[in-house]
Amino acid sequence: MSSNAPPPSEGADEILSPPTPPKAPVPLSLVFPRIGPELFAAIRGTHAQKVVLQVPAGLTRNAHHLAAEITEKTGAAVLLASRACFGACDFPSESEAPGAELAVVLGHSPIPNVRLARPTFFVEMREAGGDAARLVSILLAADVPRRLGLVSSIQHLDLVPKLVEALVAHGFDVRMASGGPRLFYPAQALGCNYTTAEAVAADVDAFLFLGTGRFHPLGLALAVDRPVWSLDPLQNLLEPPLDRAGMIRKRLLLVASVRDARRWGVLVSSFAGQDRHPMATSLVRHAVARGREAHVLVFDRLDPRDLEGRDLDAYVNTACPRIALDDGGLYPRPMLTPPEFLMALGEIPLEPYRFDTYR
Ligand code: SF4
Repeated sequence: MSSNAPPPSEGADEILSPPTPPKAPVPLSLVFPRIGPELFAAIRGTHAQKVVLQVPAGLTRNAHHLAAEITEKTGAAVLLASRACFGACDFPSESEAPGAELAVVLGHSPIPNVRLARPTFFVEMREAGGDAARLVSILLAADVPRRLGLVSSIQHLDLVPKLVEALVAHGFDVRMASGGPRLFYPAQALGCNYTTAEAVAADVDAFLFLGTGRFHPLGLALAVDRPVWSLDPLQNLLEPPLDRAGMIRKRLLLVASVRDARRWGVLVSSFAGQDRHPMATSLVRHAVARGREAHVLVFDRLDPRDLEGRDLDAYVNTACPRIALDDGGLYPRPMLTPPEFLMALGEIPLEPYRFDTYR
C-alpha cells in the first residue's frame, strides 16, 4: 500500500453509483395488497410443497397463525423465517430455508433491481383507512406550505389519490414522482432511497410524508433540503419537521472525529439487496491512495458484537445506509456512510450533505 499514489480518477458519483451487475433470469414475482383468497389461490397455483414465510418485526406476533392458515388453505408446508428482516433487500437465502420453492414476504414491495433467490410473493399489507378531508383540515390548521411534495410508505399508498384530490381542491400544489430503479411505485418511500422526493425537491417548499413512525421522516429529512412534515393517517396526527440542521451537524461532527483515522474497516453485506462490493472495492482504493489502511469485512446480518476487539479505528458501511445513520452508536467504533467516508478523506465537500442513496 502506498500513501503517495494519486487518488483514483473516478469521481464521487461513479464511486457512489457503481454499475449494476448483469441481470440474471427473473423468478416469478407477484404482488398482493393484503392476505386473502387471491394470495392463497396463487400459492396453490404454484404447486409449491414448501413455502418460506418472512415477516417484518412488527408482524411477528401473528406469524404462527398465518403460517398455519397458509398450510390449511394451500396444503403447503410453511417454514417461518425467524431472522429479523428489515426490507425486501434481505430474503431468506437457500441455506436459511432449504428446499423452499416459494417465498411469501409480508410488509414490503419488491425492489425491482434486487435479484430474487426463488419465486416470491410480496404481500404489502396495505391499510384501507384514512379520512382525506379530515387530514387536509389538519394540514390547513398547521399552515403547512402549499407547494408540497408527497411521499408515502407502501402501507398507505392507497390513500394517496384521494388525499391529493382533496389537497388540490384546497389550493395545494402537490408534486410526486417516480424514483430510481430501486423503487416499485411513484411517491414510494424506501429507507435507503428517496429519489421520488429528490425528483421534485426543486419545485416544492416542503414534503409531506404519509405514514407512521420516525424512520422515513428521518431519512427523508437527510435526503432532501426541505422541511418534512409527517402525517399519520390512522391516528390523524401531524408531526412538525425534524431538526435537519441539527441532525446533519451531528453527522459532520462524527466525520470530523475520524478525519485522521488510519485503519478503516469497509463493511460489505452478502444480502442480495445490500451487497455493494464494487463500491467497497472503490472505497478501499481511495482510502489507500490517501494513506489509510482499509480492510473489507463481509457479513450478512451485522451485529455490534462482530466488530468488538478489532484493531480498526473506524468503519464505513456499504450495506444498509440506515445501520450507520440510525444504529451507528451501538457499534464500538464510529461508523460512516460511504458519502461521509469520502468527506472524511477530503474527496467531497461537507456541504451540501449527501444522503447515502442506495441506487
Ligand atoms: S437497505 Fe435498509 S433501508 Fe433499504 S430496503 Fe434494505 S433494510 Fe430497508
